[in-house]
Amino acid sequence: MNDNNATIELKKVTKEFKSTKVIDQLDLEVAAGEFLVLLGPSGCGKSTTLRMIAGLETASDGEVLIDGDDLKKKASDGHTIAMVFQDYALYPNMTVYQNLEYALKVHKVAKDERQKRLTSILETLNLSDYKDRLPSELSGGQKQRVALGRGMAKKSKIFLLDEPLSNIDVQLREKARDEIQSLHDKNKQTIVYVTHDQLEAMALGDRIAVMNDGIIQMIDTPENIYKNPTNLFVAKFI
Ligand code: ADP
Ligand code: MG
Repeated sequence: MNDNNATIELKKVTKEFKSTKVIDQLDLEVAAGEFLVLLGPSGCGKSTTLRMIAGLETASDGEVLIDGDDLKKKASDGHTIAMVFQDYALYPNMTVYQNLEYALKVHKVAKDERQKRLTSILETLNLSDYKDRLPSELSGGQKQRVALGRGMAKKSKIFLLDEPLSNIDVQLREKARDEIQSLHDKNKQTIVYVTHDQLEAMALGDRIAVMNDGIIQMIDTPENIYKNPTNLFVAKFI
């Protein structure tokens, strides 16, 4: 256990909505500082899995452990987990800058440090010119970049990203991907990154968990997933 990252462990986690099972006895261990990609087609249960790690959904059965401890204690401290949501979830009546600053203020990061982090993130994500706009005055791609920047600013031990580049134009997407990678190289956070994009998964993951129908079909390095798929679904999907 340290200040930079934390382990994640799911033990036989099942999630049902009404009586439909969407996650089925999922076992998953993410090492401290690992970059894990959850890859799979739409509807396979990626967001639900991420939301359970974040403590936003409760498992119907099984356990979610953060640094070996019950999730609820950790998730509530606000320093452990940051998440970039698939639908951005920006505060509509705050400007871009205020959206980015909010969590840092709540967690009592000093003003100088807040400004330093945010100036650099705004620049990196080409958002400096938009910092005083409201979310309603931004395009989808710009909103997605704000959501990404907000997650980056927190320097949490665990960083969860749900399809964070899906709406960003191709040119900027590669740059944003490199930024996520170098952020990880620098801060050594534990990352779980959800995508349905095979190339993105291959480029980013230390390991990739290929998911379908609420089950992990294979979990391994990008190289092994590509070269030695262990079942037909993985072979076809990759
Ligand atoms: P993915 O992120 O891989 O596209 P999700 O985790 O969002 O998949 O969804 C997995 C399945 O669970 C889908 O069939 C979806 O319709 C269902 N689902 C997700 N959230 C809810 C919910 N709050 N209530 C009912 N069904 C849900
Ligand atoms: Mg999803």
